[in-house]
Amino acid sequence: MLDGFSTDVLICGAGAAGLTLAIDLARRGVAFRLIDMAEGPFQGSRGKGLQPRSLELFEDLGILDRIFARGGFYPLRRQYSDGGFRDFEMIERREPTPAEPYSRPFMLPQNLTEAVMRERLAEFGQRVEFGRELIGIAQDALGVRARVAAANGEETIRARYLVGADGGRSFVRKAFDIGFPGEAMNVRAVVADLALEGLTRDVWHWWSPTPGTMLTLCPLCGTDLFQLFAPIPMEGDPDLSAGGLTAMISQRTGRRDIIVREVSWCSAYSMNARLADRFQVGRVFLAGDAAHIHPPTGGQGLNTSVQDAYNLGWKLAAVLNGATEKLLGTYEEERRPVAAGVLGLAAKLLAAMGRGEIRRGRDAQEMDLGYPGSTLSLERPARTAGVHAGDRAPDAPCRTAAGHPTRLFNLFQGPHWTLLGYEADREAVPSRTNLRIHCTSAGGDIIDEGGHIRAGYGVRPGDWVLIRPDAYIGAMVCAGEMPALSHYLDDAGLGLVSP
Ligand SMILES: Cc1cc2nc3c(=O)[nH]c(=O)nc-3n(C[C@H](O)[C@H](O)[C@H](O)COP(=O)(O)OP(=O)(O)OC[C@H]3O[C@@H](n4cnc5c(N)ncnc54)[C@H](O)[C@@H]3O)c2cc1C
Repeated sequence: MLDGFSTDVLICGAGAAGLTLAIDLARRGVAFRLIDMAEGPFQGSRGKGLQPRSLELFEDLGILDRIFARGGFYPLRRQYSDGGFRDFEMIERREPTPAEPYSRPFMLPQNLTEAVMRERLAEFGQRVEFGRELIGIAQDALGVRARVAAANGEETIRARYLVGADGGRSFVRKAFDIGFPGEAMNVRAVVADLALEGLTRDVWHWWSPTPGTMLTLCPLCGTDLFQLFAPIPMEGDPDLSAGGLTAMISQRTGRRDIIVREVSWCSAYSMNARLADRFQVGRVFLAGDAAHIHPPTGGQGLNTSVQDAYNLGWKLAAVLNGATEKLLGTYEEERRPVAAGVLGLAAKLLAAMGRGEIRRGRDAQEMDLGYPGSTLSLERPARTAGVHAGDRAPDAPCRTAAGHPTRLFNLFQGPHWTLLGYEADREAVPSRTNLRIHCTSAGGDIIDEGGHIRAGYGVRPGDWVLIRPDAYIGAMVCAGEMPALSHYLDDAGLGLVSP
């Protein structure tokens, strides 16, 4: 590699955020290294709920089929009280629509989701370098110099960019003295993956005599295990052995027939809600838990982390391919407000759980998050209805010109931008690298049979919709605003050059 650089991007941390970024960079042909201080993959269910927006991301990355094959949908919640029980939906049930193909959260333990991600990475000839710990960083105008310790000695890696996806205790965040304000929630809980007997696997079992003595046991899809969740006092050392957890279950449920046979993974942790003051310092970025941590209520941690990486990946690749650096500034601009909102939601859901209210609605599904105020969002004229620039780009079933069924998500899939002309003149927009243009006009390549594109986007004849590589709407313009669209596409910040 030129100029003494050994790689373009050094990713520190191979959790969900680091792995997502690695896959995204790999499919864009960007050189990177992915290091993790752990000796091997983390074995624990932790973030088991995959929100619909994450499922869309996984479809784009080419791993959704495998995720679906290994996990399952959430079962009903069974609430025990007064010697009886009541079953009910915990997650608001919605049917898929043409615009939103995945309408329900899906369950797969985080260690299995990450295993699928490592499998995908291997398909690109890449792997996690376990047993390598980042112990020092310095940066200059051209790149970073990272000191990495391994069993066989120390190595210095010179990279153009560093991404700290190194979790809540982030070394990278601390090394750059980035503030991490927020609050300790004064809630501590045991989370454990257990092999046990005495319970059916068809429902999520809940006992909640009082908030402090609640206990839940969730059958973990894709395994024979149950995930235990139980608040505990802030002080003291709970007995986390099989015998200790059997006793805790018996005490809180009144049942002596539930016996823990094995503790596969266990953690007693105190909940925090914190947001990093900055997500970027020069050539260094924070992603995932390194940038924000929240209580697990609502299943937001993993989902927000993978969305950070998805936002950053295409921008890093574009800048490494010649786009100007200002594009990277939009990472913090777009993701920090989203993380702040998610933090508020998780805290709200935690407070609601304390009151015994558990139902999760659409606000936890991350489908309505977007970047409407972003400097990357262009809308001409301003729209009064339907989706806006910055919103998630809806899916829509349609047909190819030859009549074969397809979907917009098939057209979006991959590392490119997509320009969609609704009954618009294809010749009006010159070709550019990394931009695919599709039109519904006569002589165009797609047919809006059923009108799902028109309905989903609220477009009129002559309108153009530009979809970013991360499936958000970059620009929406009418026919008369072609100069504004051309100006947007010509912006050196995007790197969409004419061939
Ligand atoms: C007990 C528990 C329960 C949770 N439950 C849920 C839940 O129900 N739903 C949910 O959505 N989220 C949950 N979460 C949160 C979720 O697990 C995290 O949000 C998610 O793991 C964040 O992913 P990440 O990749 O940002 O960080 P992590 O998964 O923490 O990965 C960071 C990686 O960086 C590595 N690393 C750290 N420092 C260095 C270094 N100096 N050099 C090299 N490598 C380093 C670590 O070894 C680790 O592999 C839970 C978390 C915990 C701890």
